[in-house]
Amino acid sequence: MLIAIDGPAASGKGTIARRLAAHFGLPHLDTGLLYRATARALLDQGSKLDDVENAVSAARGLALLDFEEDRLRGREMGEAASVVAAIPEVRAALIDMQRAFASRPQGAVLDGRDIGTVIAPKADVKIFVTASPEARAQRRALELRGRGEKVDYPAILDDIRKRDTRDSERADAPLRPADDAKILDTTDLNIEAAFAAALEIVDRAEAAT
Ligand code: C5P
Repeated sequence: MLIAIDGPAASGKGTIARRLAAHFGLPHLDTGLLYRATARALLDQGSKLDDVENAVSAARGLALLDFEEDRLRGREMGEAASVVAAIPEVRAALIDMQRAFASRPQGAVLDGRDIGTVIAPKADVKIFVTASPEARAQRRALELRGRGEKVDYPAILDDIRKRDTRDSERADAPLRPADDAKILDTTDLNIEAAFAAALEIVDRAEAAT
């Protein structure tokens, strides 16, 4: 079974994807990490984020070693990732890796912005996870506080709005639900309720096949 989870920053899609993967015993790929690792590599080499040539070679050179999550998770790296993610050549350089993961024989769970629309348009189940910007900013604030980072709620809300705009308005693979995606609004749901709702969507889709 191939499950595609998309949605904006801090919507809960990552947690839902991880939990669905654990529940069904499927491999999981958080595709945001690919863009974050590309941005990190560029910044580490002192390159500008909009240097297309360097960005493409950073994307092509990604290895599992680059995925030190702690260095990729911070607020700035999400913002930097969305800058490199708007470069069509970078997206193109990362497609094969994601499609290879999606075509594993046992199935997979992938989460990102364009899984249901571009990477795996034939996924068995597509869920678009969303929530109000305020609810997402609250969650991000809690998460950052838990990691010991300084929390500035207005700045976080501003980041989320900026990132939504950049991700939704870019020309290549913009953030949007696939026509056949089920929308899951988690604004008023805790993670248990959100996971239960996602599981129900998957179970229904499976029963319908
Ligand atoms: O999901 P996460 O916040 O880690 O993603 C970081 C950024 O990477 C997003 O804001 C988006 O610009 C980009 N991204 C993307 N396509 C994906 C996954 C992430 O454009 N499939």
